[in-house]
Amino acid sequence: MPGSRALSIAIVGAGMGGLASAAALRRVGIEVMVYEQASQFARIGAGIQIGCNAMKVLRKLGLEERLRAQSFYPRSWNNRDWRTGEVKFDMIFGESAEAKFGAPYLLAHRGDLHAALASAVPPEYVRLGHKLTGLEERADGIRLRFANGETATADAVIGADGVHSLVREILFGTSPVNFTGRIAYRTTYPAALLNGYKIEDCTKWWGEDRHIVIYYVKPDRSEVYFVTSQPEPEFRIESWSAKGNVKELRAAFEGFDSQVTNVLDVCPDVHKWAIVDRNALTRWAEGNVTLLGDACHPMTPYMAQGAAMAIEDAAVLSRCLEGIGRDAIADAFRRFEATRRERTARVQETSRTNTWLRQRTDADWVYAYDAWTTPLAA
Ligand SMILES: Cc1cc2nc3c(=O)[nH]c(=O)nc-3n(C[C@H](O)[C@H](O)[C@H](O)COP(=O)(O)OP(=O)(O)OC[C@H]3O[C@@H](n4cnc5c(N)ncnc54)[C@H](O)[C@@H]3O)c2cc1C
Repeated sequence: MPGSRALSIAIVGAGMGGLASAAALRRVGIEVMVYEQASQFARIGAGIQIGCNAMKVLRKLGLEERLRAQSFYPRSWNNRDWRTGEVKFDMIFGESAEAKFGAPYLLAHRGDLHAALASAVPPEYVRLGHKLTGLEERADGIRLRFANGETATADAVIGADGVHSLVREILFGTSPVNFTGRIAYRTTYPAALLNGYKIEDCTKWWGEDRHIVIYYVKPDRSEVYFVTSQPEPEFRIESWSAKGNVKELRAAFEGFDSQVTNVLDVCPDVHKWAIVDRNALTRWAEGNVTLLGDACHPMTPYMAQGAAMAIEDAAVLSRCLEGIGRDAIADAFRRFEATRRERTARVQETSRTNTWLRQRTDADWVYAYDAWTTPLAA
């Protein structure tokens, strides 16, 4: 039975998953408030691949036109040998994949995707400078406490607070992240620095113990992005803002194809961070509190599907909550978890092996998925 008033849901974290959830829940008439610890949104210099599966969700949130206009539309994700350049597997995207999977595959600037998601949530529903410090169940709902001294109460809470989720700690206790012993360098920079030198649309260069992925993030090829993965077990800083040393990066990719070395030679500066993941959790929800996105299924970036999984979560969660009353929230959260856990665990595990598209791969199970129509668990 629908309740007499709209459900109110507090979302902790205004990352990809939190904002997508806010937009999806508002579509079905749920009152949301998003609480974000940062005092402003920063435009982080990174690219992001928006898989066809994520684009299907974003389309229904009204963001397709904007993202097509701002992002690069690659003909493929090519996979080459680091030294010989031999093509291992060319995963064709472009129009044929769009027709097959029902949505385009886009390569975006991370800041553009984040801004697009933020545009789908009116600013009065996002409270910046609100770092969650505690949750308490009370008769009138869940009480949230913030570091700035404020409190708020909602019928339910979604912890979309990322890989180091406090909401997860509150629900299920602390467990350390899994440091993979590998680090990533990444940056975006103006393609003009390449002085007319042209790179391919999107290529992953597979080395023996390292790789680099390079692609354009703007429709006019005006901005280049790359991200690497290589061993460095002692480095444990996992932050979007930590800097790396460009000379060390260049040395680490010496001997790679000239397309790689040309891109690294003109790279002005670079960020560096430790690659982490977690094992699949057995539970995401407890009562009227659930986790979503990296808070419950963080993964290595090797399939370029972490944000896509958070965005899919948002659509499925909105379907589970649509039209229900307050007393049915806990069941809806269990249903959400039951619908999503197997898929996200499979993506986490596949991503960890770093074999995605390295050779001919059946990618249909990832890209054909439609979070708006996939059957919900009983
Ligand atoms: C190198 C790299 C490349 C990647 N490339 C891709 C890609 O190409 N495609 C793809 O789909 N995915 C990619 N990913 C994965 C993707 O970035 C993540 O999966 C995605 O950001 C998860 O979204 P989220 O909303 O769950 O978490 P986040 O984006 O981490 O957002 C969490 C938010 O919660 C806030 N927060 C945290 N704690 C609190 C608190 N206590 N109170 C209030 N707010 C809080 C944080 O400030 C943050 O804004 C990549 C990841 C990495 C590391």
